[in-house]
Amino acid sequence: MCRLRDCSVCECPDNEFPEPFKKPYSGLSPENMICQEGKPEATVDRTLDTKVFKGWVETDNPWTSDDETDNAEMTYVNLQLNPERYTGYTGDSARRIWDAIYKENCPKYPSEDMCQEKKALYKLISGLHSSISVHIAYDYLLDESANLWGHNLSLLHDRVLKYPERVENLYFTYLFVLRAVTKAADYLEQAEYNTGNPEEDLKTQSLVRQLLYNHKLRSACPLPFDEAKLWQGENGPELKQEIQKQFRNISAIMDCVGCEKCRLWGKLQVLGLGTALKILFSVDGENNLNQQFQLQRNEVIALVNLLNRLSESVKFVHETGSSSQEIIKQQSFSTLQKGAS
Ligand SMILES: Cc1cc2nc3c(=O)[nH]c(=O)nc-3n(C[C@H](O)[C@H](O)[C@H](O)COP(=O)(O)OP(=O)(O)OC[C@H]3O[C@@H](n4cnc5c(N)ncnc54)[C@H](O)[C@@H]3O)c2cc1C
Repeated sequence: MCRLRDCSVCECPDNEFPEPFKKPYSGLSPENMICQEGKPEATVDRTLDTKVFKGWVETDNPWTSDDETDNAEMTYVNLQLNPERYTGYTGDSARRIWDAIYKENCPKYPSEDMCQEKKALYKLISGLHSSISVHIAYDYLLDESANLWGHNLSLLHDRVLKYPERVENLYFTYLFVLRAVTKAADYLEQAEYNTGNPEEDLKTQSLVRQLLYNHKLRSACPLPFDEAKLWQGENGPELKQEIQKQFRNISAIMDCVGCEKCRLWGKLQVLGLGTALKILFSVDGENNLNQQFQLQRNEVIALVNLLNRLSESVKFVHETGSSSQEIIKQQSFSTLQKGAS
């Protein structure tokens, strides 16, 4: 289990919980009804086309084990007060979770013969695992007695950089999620970012637009991942069901993570991945999003936070990758010198 007391999560008090989050979406507001003389059919449909946002709904995600329509036990947590970082969660408990995920649900592909869909599931999980390790290395408790936090480059090297495949999988997961976000651009642009704080909400809308229509990103990476190539074989539908079941198992395993903060980030990021899978594979024959496509507010929150976590990991790996070995050499040289003197 965790060694650190601060691995626990602080839930926000009720007065910090955004008012609009408390009200379930129920169609037109009373003011709107008065304005339309009580006739819902008189309201203007502001949706731009069939793909876009129609208000937050309670909808279950077929890729996850939780019932997303049941919000009874949910609490509100400020993620900025609970950053993903080193928690001291190590040993058998953590290892058992990773073992259960890989061995039972997404074994590493033994040969090139394995179908690309199963490879993709393994890579997605391995990429997420790399990202978690990168965040541990990025924000590590270097000296417990002095409460000194900082980068742990040896850990980054030993757990991620030393294995090119783990770095590749991190990029794979990042591109997969980026593709999902850009595919749902119409929907995400129209979504209602309303927390009751108008300034913050405007900023969020503007940031979402900047992300969705970033020219540099679009030209550097026009198609980050080509999901249309998956499930094309004869047994495509059965394979999709099988992989969906495996991913649901992985999402259920997250409830067994024995460290509260790790569980929070584990569940959030797996929901983010489940949301990316839902976006990429809820399509019609033309590979466009289904007309009935809808996301829950929590799915959007999870998706965007996952993209943030992955892009921060990619950035740290990119910036420190080449220099880390040199720094580690210098660090071990100075430790040796200290030992000798
Ligand atoms: C869902 C979840 C979230 C967690 N979040 C945190 C957190 O926020 N903070 C924290 O301090 N700890 C967290 N942990 C614990 C952390 O991931 C490690 O398990 C722990 O630090 C012990 O690391 P380890 O060196 O034993 O190797 P682990 O990271 O536990 O890896 C176990 C085994 O998996 C394989 N492996 C490792 N990386 C990869 C990869 N990228 N792809 C494929 N295989 C791989 C290797 O064979 C390795 O021996 C979390 C654990 C889980 C299960």
